[in-house]
Amino acid sequence: MSFADKTLTCRDCGMDFVFTSGEQEFYAQKGFANEPTRCPSCRQQRKASNGGRSYSERNGYGRNDGYAGGRGSYGGERQMYTTTCAACGREAQVPFMPRGDKPVYCSDCFQDQRRSSGRNRW
Ligand SMILES: [Zn+2]
Ligand SMILES: [Zn+2]
Repeated sequence: MSFADKTLTCRDCGMDFVFTSGEQEFYAQKGFANEPTRCPSCRQQRKASNGGRSYSERNGYGRNDGYAGGRGSYGGERQMYTTTCAACGREAQVPFMPRGDKPVYCSDCFQDQRRSSGRNRW
């Protein structure tokens, strides 16, 4: 397998730069499917400014499929907000932003509310 020097255009500064045969070989060995999109100097700048930030994609967040009730539709990020329970006054963690127009209950009181209004529907 042989490589030839290639001229690419940097997407940051728009300058042409050479993707050398040596680099192409290196990329192929590493299994990189994509060609570099930035010239070496822009790559260096980004590296310097990013400070080693990693692009770790979060996939497979813990989704609780056994949640009975079918009310929970919080997809994606599972951020919890701290608020005060409207029934018992204790600190409560809720998976949505409390907006103040509705009472918010802790998980204990929430279940109590459901039990008293839902009348044991199974
Ligand atoms: Zn550039
Ligand atoms: Zn409560």
